[in-house]
Amino acid sequence: ITSKLPDLPTSIFTVMSSLAHKHDAVNLSQGFPDFSPDPLLIDLIAKAMKDGYNQYAPMAGIYSLREVISHKIKSLYGAEYHPESEITVTAGATQAIYTAIAALVSTGDEVIVLKPAYDCYEPVIWANGGIPVPVQLQGKTYQIDWDLFRSKITERTKMVVINTPHNPSGRVFSAEDMHQLQQSLEHTDILVLSDEVYEHLVFDDNTHQSVSKFPGLAERSLVCASFGKTFHSTGWKMGYCAAPQPLMKEFQKIHEFNVFCVNHPIQRALAVYLEEPKNYLDLGPFFQQKRDHFLNSIRDSRFSFTPSQGTYFQLLDYSAISDESDVDLAHRLTVDHKLASIPISVFNSNAEDHSQLRFCFAKTTETLDKATAIINTL
Ligand code: PMP
Ligand code: GLN
Repeated sequence: ITSKLPDLPTSIFTVMSSLAHKHDAVNLSQGFPDFSPDPLLIDLIAKAMKDGYNQYAPMAGIYSLREVISHKIKSLYGAEYHPESEITVTAGATQAIYTAIAALVSTGDEVIVLKPAYDCYEPVIWANGGIPVPVQLQGKTYQIDWDLFRSKITERTKMVVINTPHNPSGRVFSAEDMHQLQQSLEHTDILVLSDEVYEHLVFDDNTHQSVSKFPGLAERSLVCASFGKTFHSTGWKMGYCAAPQPLMKEFQKIHEFNVFCVNHPIQRALAVYLEEPKNYLDLGPFFQQKRDHFLNSIRDSRFSFTPSQGTYFQLLDYSAISDESDVDLAHRLTVDHKLASIPISVFNSNAEDHSQLRFCFAKTTETLDKATAIINTL
C-alpha cells in the first residue's frame, strides 16, 4: 500500500508510557492524572445510564450541555456562542482538532504551526493535503517572534494553529501576543484553530487568553477544549468545539460522518456538573499547588527551570547534568533510574535540542515524591 503518512513515527506518548510500564518506572511522561475524577461526576454518569441515556445523542451534543458550555464561555471570556448552531460536543479535543482541519483545510493549503507543537496537528494537516508551515518559538521561554510569524503568511495560508496554555512549554500567551495575532490576520481570510485544552490550568498572575476574548480573532476561530483535562478523565475522551456559525456548519459536515455523535450518558453528567463553576475554577490553584510541591522538592537538584505558567507540565533543563540528546536521556532515565519523561525535541521542526525534558505533575503527592527523590539523585 502507498502510505499517506510514510514518515510518521509512533507517538512519543505511546513510546514513553510503554517504556515506563516495561521498566516499572514512575511515569511523568504522558499527560494524565494518576488520581480519579470527582466521585460526584462518576455518580452522575451511572445515574444517566440507569435513567436510560444509553442510545445515540443528538449529532452536535445534547442541548443542555451545549447551553452550559455557552454560558461558561460567555461568563469567562464575554463571547456569545449560540448553543444551537455554534457548539459541538466531540470525542476529546483530538477529534475536534481532526474534524476542524479535515473540514477546512484542502490540498495545497498552508497551515502555520508554532513549534514545538503538540503532536496531533501536523499529521492531520498532511493527511488532508495541507502543508504545515512551522514557526519556531524562541529561546528557552518560547517567545513568539511576530515578525517571523508574519513573514510566513502567504496567499496560500489557510489556517494558523495556536495552543495556549502551551504544551509542552507551559507558556501562557500574553494579551499582547493575542493582539499581535489579531493584527497580523486583519484583512485576511486566515482561520485560527485555537487549542485551549488547558484553559483552566493557569498559575500565578497569568490569565488565559482565549481567542474568544478578541472579536477580530473569535470571528475566524475554532476553539477546541477537553473535559479530559478539566475533569481528570482523559480516558473518557470528551471535549467540544466552539466557532461562529459559518465555521461550525462546515465542522459539523465532517463531525456527522466522523463520529456522528459522542458518549450520551457522559454528556448528561457533564451538563449537570458544569453548572457549578467551582468545578473548573478551582483547577488553577489545585494544579499550582502540585507544581509548587514538585518544584520545591527539586530546588536543590542539578536541574534548572522556569516555573510553568499553565498546563500540567514542567520543563526541566538538564544542561548541568548531561550533554546527551533529550531522547537519549529520557530513555536512559526511564530504564536506569525508573523515571519517565517526555523529550521535547520530537515536537520541534528542526529537532533542536533544548536540553529540556517535560514532566507531568498531575500526580498524587506520593507519586511526585517518588519522582523528585529520583530527580535529586541525578
Ligand atoms: N491538545 C493538547 C495541547 C493536548 O495536550 C492534548 C492532550 N490531551 C489534546 C489536545 C488532546 O485532548 P483530548 O485528550 O481531549 O483528546
Ligand atoms: N496530551 C497528552 C500529553 O501531552 C497526551 C495525549 C496522548 O497520549 N495522545 O502528554
